Amino acid sequence: MDRRLTGISASPGIVAGPVYVLHAGEEEAGIFEAQMLILQDTEMIGRVDGLIRQNLAAESAFEITMLDLRHHFARHASPMMRERVGDLADVQIRVLSLLLGLPDHDPVDVPKGANAILVTHDLTPSLTVQLDREAIAAIATDAGTRVSHVAILARSLGIPAVVGLRDATSRLKTGEMAILDGAAGTISVNPTAEEIRHFNERSQREAALTQELELLRSAESITLDGHKLVLRANVDFPEEADFAVRSGAEGVGLMRTEFLVVGRTTMPDEEEQFRAYKKVAESFDGAPVVIRTYDIGGDKLPVGGHPTEANPFLGWRAIRMCLDEPEMFKVQLRALMRAASFGDVRIMLPLVVSNDEVRQARVLLEEGSAELEARNVPHRKNIPLGVMIETPAAAVSADSFVGDASFFSIGTNDLTQYTLAIDRGNANLAPRFTPLHPAVLRLIQRTVQVGAANDIEVTVCGEMASQPLTAFALIGLGVRSMSVSPRSVTLLKRLVLGTTASVAAKSAVAAMEARTAAASEAIILQAFTETFGEVAELLDGLPHIM
Ligand code: PEP
Ligand code: MG
Repeated sequence: MDRRLTGISASPGIVAGPVYVLHAGEEEAGIFEAQMLILQDTEMIGRVDGLIRQNLAAESAFEITMLDLRHHFARHASPMMRERVGDLADVQIRVLSLLLGLPDHDPVDVPKGANAILVTHDLTPSLTVQLDREAIAAIATDAGTRVSHVAILARSLGIPAVVGLRDATSRLKTGEMAILDGAAGTISVNPTAEEIRHFNERSQREAALTQELELLRSAESITLDGHKLVLRANVDFPEEADFAVRSGAEGVGLMRTEFLVVGRTTMPDEEEQFRAYKKVAESFDGAPVVIRTYDIGGDKLPVGGHPTEANPFLGWRAIRMCLDEPEMFKVQLRALMRAASFGDVRIMLPLVVSNDEVRQARVLLEEGSAELEARNVPHRKNIPLGVMIETPAAAVSADSFVGDASFFSIGTNDLTQYTLAIDRGNANLAPRFTPLHPAVLRLIQRTVQVGAANDIEVTVCGEMASQPLTAFALIGLGVRSMSVSPRSVTLLKRLVLGTTASVAAKSAVAAMEARTAAASEAIILQAFTETFGEVAELLDGLPHIM
């Protein structure tokens, strides 16, 4: 082996292939998005279409339209619009090259079948979603952590990924052969024969583990001391629903609807959203399907149209933005109420800090229902409305939602981020991002207690639920419902089947009393290892370190 790079395990799977370094930092990714925006512009498309209908060749029609737009933009009063001229020129050259059969200069242009390991500084959610899966087999990034959205998406898409490598883009070169091990979080460059042998062994072991876990698909998840756990799936795209059903999940605990929006120029209309939600609801045949309203903002921005903010994670996002844009929000609420006629759809509000947000959302739901009634559109009125507990404010005052919220779902990714004041996507802070910190555990326990006292279902849908070690702590805290990535459902069943809840509870209580995050982690790890003994390694077969 020539070199070995170690980062953060983001999505399991092992891949051997050529490295493809894409110098696409955040800024460059922004440029691609701006260029996609231009290409999706309906007015531009309409003009080109009009000229083609006047018998102009497609190349000429496109060139004339783009020249006209460049002329217009170059004279625009806004400096921001004038800056777009460069993008227009780039788009013009690339589209013309394609139309004329000339070589394309797409910086993400990896040939199909290349089985490449894409190495970049960072990837935005929208670029991740649009990667050509026939060309790119794995992702490696300098930035990011296990809970950054690129990592979450990579897991949803089943693309092996290592993030937080810090300097991979400067240490790796396009064309070098490498082995990326998503579970171990490593990249081995120019592997030796021994390394390749290890790769083959590892691939076989992963396949065997997958087979073993598959036998658990239809198993009930009950602890050794008789506690039933509900295991639902997190679904990021409607297309994932079928896979989630096959994984043995008892419904959807979190559908992240913002991924319907990222990477596009316009918001999906009521009809398009209705179809997406209906598809997921129907796939689950009556089991609960919890759909979260738009959590747009932070790093999940749709293309364009959003003001730049100094602190986007503390900014105008999620429920805040939705309540300030009621007409846009009501389109989503109407689509959700319509889809609820086809399954047990429940609505969940993200980033709530105060109960008035729930009440305001309910007023909009009622307005949306009246609008549907006026249009004679069938829908379900009395749809359960729950809140995500993902801010310290919501956890500490969980009791303030009693009577207004139908259920709680703990978002441990954000709850950890906001409790510890540690950016969840910052690779430099990854070792400090400790969901087993006693403060986080206490907030989870408090929420669970409020739920139990008031007969409110409490689910955990953050990454803590998808990882055996942290899920073990959650069982100990009294959590009895979890929503995990579809690929983790059977792994979690295996965990539950081997856990004694009272043993987990003892360690969770001790961990909450620990004085440091490290001490808390050590307590949980010890109980976990004692419980699973030899099979701890099996549970470790997929990554559990955050
Ligand atoms: C969370 O914050 O834990 C969560 C589930 O939501 P997201 O990761 O989409 O912010
Ligand atoms: Mg969140």
